[in-house]
Amino acid sequence: MLGYDTIYYRGENAYSLIKMAREESRVILTRNTKLLPKSPEDRIIRIIENKPSHQVRELIQKKIISLKEEDLFTRCLLCNLLLNEIPREEAEGKVPDFIFCQQREFFQCPQCLRIYWKGSHQDHMQKKVEELFG
Ligand SMILES: [Zn+2]
Repeated sequence: MLGYDTIYYRGENAYSLIKMAREESRVILTRNTKLLPKSPEDRIIRIIENKPSHQVRELIQKKIISLKEEDLFTRCLLCNLLLNEIPREEAEGKVPDFIFCQQREFFQCPQCLRIYWKGSHQDHMQKKVEELFG
């Protein structure tokens, strides 16, 4: 939602996680108290809060993330890839007719081909984002 390049690591090997984070210059966010940096370059942030919305607030307070309006909703919520704007006519027949009539701009995920638009769902999420960042 916030436009951050994010991976959910499902593996159990802490060494591969740290190795991947180093190679891709990623920050590790974790609730695991046993996961500790192995070198000064490792950035491991321990999250204390339980609820996702509180966790986002926590990361804002710790200055790990910030709100960049131009980055909001620029990635596929499923694949994490940056969306591409597509010509309006390409969305015809692939989105509900009333959406096609209402909307001028459409965006597509290059991987799953899901089409996004600035719809009510996004307005709702935009409100949520604004609440989080105050
Ligand atoms: Zn996708």
